[in-house]
Amino acid sequence: MMNSIQEKNLNQNPNTWQRELAAGFSNSRELCEYLDLSSSTANALPSPTFAVRVPRDFVDRIEKGNLADPLLKQVLAAEQENKVFSGFNNDPVGDINAVVEPGVIHKYQGRVLLITTGSCAINCRYCFRRNFPYSDFQLSKQKLDQALQYIQNDNTISEVILSGGDPLLLSDQKLFSLIQQLENIKHIKRIRIHSRIPIVLPSRINSEFCDLLSSIQKPVVLVIHSNHANELSHSVKMACEKLTACHITLLNQSVLLKGINDTAQSLSDLSEKLFEFGILPYYLHLLDKATGTQHFEVDNHTAIALMDKIKQQLPGYLVPKLVREQAGMSNKIIIS
Ligand code: SF4
Repeated sequence: MMNSIQEKNLNQNPNTWQRELAAGFSNSRELCEYLDLSSSTANALPSPTFAVRVPRDFVDRIEKGNLADPLLKQVLAAEQENKVFSGFNNDPVGDINAVVEPGVIHKYQGRVLLITTGSCAINCRYCFRRNFPYSDFQLSKQKLDQALQYIQNDNTISEVILSGGDPLLLSDQKLFSLIQQLENIKHIKRIRIHSRIPIVLPSRINSEFCDLLSSIQKPVVLVIHSNHANELSHSVKMACEKLTACHITLLNQSVLLKGINDTAQSLSDLSEKLFEFGILPYYLHLLDKATGTQHFEVDNHTAIALMDKIKQQLPGYLVPKLVREQAGMSNKIIIS
């Protein structure tokens, strides 16, 4: 059932995807009720500091009554999140030290990352930015101008990565006005967008959005984020077909997650289905050790053994690179 804030948002947002976003679940108890999970399950859940947020379209891919469902485990707050473990911290990949202007993270040569928003359509419990102080880096008009000036002034930057949060949560007007400004910077060769929205809120990929995407002159790489083949529903397929028609490059990154996709079968099924949807597997990330995520960790040894198995099962172009991001390093470490 929607609360009054959600109803108000719904009335103010006539676009389908915005209506769907406003009607998503933001409460573990309601989520459990909807999925026929017992009230004792709901009662045992903690009140998380990192809010629960999940669109209905995604929830409808979860098996009812199954607490072990691989999609449910990604979104339901667990009691383990409140435990403290050494080696886990609030900024596991060293983003804060790499901030060069508000909203601009410059870690790797030739590329900068723009934090366009602090919000996502879904809150993934394992997220490496779950504790990121987004409010300190909010892009006001003035800060955005500063960010663009930084990019303009450094002609070694050839690629801008729009990230967040999720950049596809911006209105078309905001997103494409930003892209247009980036297009005007001569030394920018490519625009990369990191988004989980085609997977979790496929209605966002509507014809207005696709028309604007198709009008971008510079090459666009859209890196989506899917962790399990069950996420790749019919509605996601429709969205991916529209994106493919925009002549952009579609890649996927996943996180290796204990109890969710840590079997060779699960990873192979994901790669096969991604390809069916027109997407190439790009990275499989080892977990970034953010506070509250330790129960998702798969150790290096197990991860490498899994990679060895999927290399035997899949053609090379369907095998993602197993990588770890380490704070302070000038590139990701390729493990396998
Ligand atoms: S969509 Fe990406 S940034 Fe947002 S919560 Fe999930 S993993 Fe984190």
